Amino acid sequence: MNKLQWKTVYPQFSPREKWGDSEKMDFRLIWILYRARCLLGRRIYINRAVDPKGSESHKNGLAVDFRVEGVKLINIVPFKLPDKHGLGCSDWFTLSMNNNPAIFDIVRYFSLCRLGFYPYWTYNGKLWAGFHVDIKPEYLNWWRDAKGKYHYNLRLSKM
Ligand SMILES: [Zn+2]
Repeated sequence: MNKLQWKTVYPQFSPREKWGDSEKMDFRLIWILYRARCLLGRRIYINRAVDPKGSESHKNGLAVDFRVEGVKLINIVPFKLPDKHGLGCSDWFTLSMNNNPAIFDIVRYFSLCRLGFYPYWTYNGKLWAGFHVDIKPEYLNWWRDAKGKYHYNLRLSKM
């Protein structure tokens, strides 16, 4: 992303954040973040973006890892549903809306992206939910549980 493009998303985002190489960031991804930031009304803190040692999408500026202002404590209740629901996967999980309605908004605003959810990330020694968003074409979402196991194509439902 060039300087002029960065100006269009200022002050929500600036090339001085932890993008790695801000010039390599894909403009489409930054615009999705920009829109989500405006709709959420919460600050989005960039943890990592362009990373030559990361996944293909991180190498190419198509992915970003971030945390969201106020999204810290999340009560996750994993449960199983049989495949007869036709969802192609049996792992669902429910988030306690009492703890964090913002999670639903985040999932909604990034619904066109691939979304990874890391509720057990820590930041400065404290639990702080983290998100990975990328714009590779094959749709996928996932979350990583406390034991480090990945669960794919989750659905969200209110309790
Ligand atoms: Zn990532």
